[in-house]
Amino acid sequence: MKSEKLLDIKKVSHYRGTKKRQTFSIKNHRIGDTAFSIIGGPCTIRNERDLLTTADKLKQLGLHFFRGGIYKMRTSPYEFQGLGEKGLEIIKKVAHKTGLVSVSEVIAPADVKVMSEYVDILQVGTRNMHNYRLLSALGKVDNPVILKRGMCSTIKEWLFAAEHIIQAGNPSVILCERGIRTFEAETRNTLDISAIPIVRKYSTLPVIVDPSHSSGRRDLIKPLCWAAMAAGADGILLEAELAPDNAICDAQQTIDLSELKKIIQPMQKMIELWDK
Ligand code: PEP
Ligand code: MN
Repeated sequence: MKSEKLLDIKKVSHYRGTKKRQTFSIKNHRIGDTAFSIIGGPCTIRNERDLLTTADKLKQLGLHFFRGGIYKMRTSPYEFQGLGEKGLEIIKKVAHKTGLVSVSEVIAPADVKVMSEYVDILQVGTRNMHNYRLLSALGKVDNPVILKRGMCSTIKEWLFAAEHIIQAGNPSVILCERGIRTFEAETRNTLDISAIPIVRKYSTLPVIVDPSHSSGRRDLIKPLCWAAMAAGADGILLEAELAPDNAICDAQQTIDLSELKKIIQPMQKMIELWDK
């Protein structure tokens, strides 16, 4: 029986075939291969003091990356839309003071150039995976790009979306599985765990998992992080902050730093084993 369902993906330059999977380096931190990357932080940045305190604590836990939204694509226009430009200085300062690598979402092609000067890794959110003008604009900068899977997109569409960035000139794309829409109502989305081995099979690009937006539930973050690692993901991107109950956005899926510690300590032991 033929199981190679994605054969026409052979057209993309990151088609794996017999090639080795890729790794990227940013500020001396590797993404992909044996380097499991843990990216944590708030859904949205509130102010400099809170972000710096959280980032310092993440660093103490051994993280090299932090996340924080500045431009938020909220489903409701009545919800907080992010700090906007004010957030750019904050994220840059916090990355500088802590030495951590920053991750933040870019939502418009016109913002790409400016954001590339303030943020280390630019993220494309699920709602923008099909925004090909945005993807092409990201091809013109050198920052690695985290490309979230569209919530209603197939793996093939996602791999082709990555190709839009690569063809426009930027090879450093990290895929992020963040859950897809299904009929299941217990979770915000359904984490498509099989996407991980499938992407590893067909693409050379690193692939990470977002357990926060895929589940929408704090109590599922630990099992989903561990499942991601077991399935072969190259990292996790999750929402964590000092006082999750006060989070401006996505509080119900944001964990505190003591829970984060419990989740990542066993994972860090596994990473040490790989590195040997
Ligand atoms: C996010 O990571 O901040 C986010 C909004 O995620 P998604 O685009 O996957 O919903
Ligand atoms: Mn969020």
